[in-house]
Amino acid sequence: MGNHALTRHSQHASEASTRPHLTIFPPSAEMTAAANIADRQFTPVEQEPVAPPFRQLEPTPELLAELAEASERLETAQPEEIIAWAHHRFAPHLTMATAFGPEGCVILSMLAKVAPETYVFNLDTGYQFQETLDLRDKIASLYGIEVDMLQPELTVPQYEALHNGPLYKTNPNQCCFDRKIKVLRAAATKHHAWMSGIRRDQSTDRARAAIVEWDKKFNLVKISPLANWTKKDIWKRILDENVPYNPLHDQGFPSIGCWPCTRAVAEGETDERAGRWSGTAKTECGLHTLEQQDGSGI
Ligand code: SF4
Repeated sequence: MGNHALTRHSQHASEASTRPHLTIFPPSAEMTAAANIADRQFTPVEQEPVAPPFRQLEPTPELLAELAEASERLETAQPEEIIAWAHHRFAPHLTMATAFGPEGCVILSMLAKVAPETYVFNLDTGYQFQETLDLRDKIASLYGIEVDMLQPELTVPQYEALHNGPLYKTNPNQCCFDRKIKVLRAAATKHHAWMSGIRRDQSTDRARAAIVEWDKKFNLVKISPLANWTKKDIWKRILDENVPYNPLHDQGFPSIGCWPCTRAVAEGETDERAGRWSGTAKTECGLHTLEQQDGSGI
């Protein structure tokens, strides 16, 4: 070792003797755990593919042209074919609303064969007949389709307390708006298309229904697979295939909605919707009318 090295060694020894005395503590349990984690080899977690955020459809000229072309082509198709087309085009963003009328029950029986995974819901106003509610369970056990019962924000007691009594007596349009339309609007924001069981021969409003069309009230594509069927066609299918139906139909109720707004029809009354909002000018809850009705808010 040369002089130069000796000089540096002496210098370091001298510096060390003047430093403050450091005490080295043993590592804490937390430090040891952290070091172990840092040393561990991790296998990268497989990332789940992130679904693109849901976007509602826009009625672009291209979409409207596609719907018009499909509607014309499906005019002569059987309801099952129309449902299959709707499923192919819009699933999983296809839904169906049902009030468990005969047409709804027939579509449910078709869905069970064609697209049983379709999300189906009922606008459960809180004023439905018990017989209607019982049908939900019959459909579920027969077809395996669990209809989702969508309720309005307020229960019936809360709603009636807010309006100093039942609003269906004084302002049925507002009642239908609050307990049906608002609920459907909320449900609509999660879908691209909805199916309904309306028939063209039910009323003048419904006579204008296309098989496939843009429903601007709900910003959805609307599909009416039974638009061309008659009441006779519906009941033939129900009887031929033992499709469950509301027993109230055998007691003089051809069309069934909420119990306060539905009555049995008298013999000789040919309008099958004569028992709905009887004694008032109201004929529809607003789900299937094209435009807002004056003063109704629908
Ligand atoms: S049908 Fe009658 S009870 Fe039912 S939501 Fe409409 S107004 Fe209210």
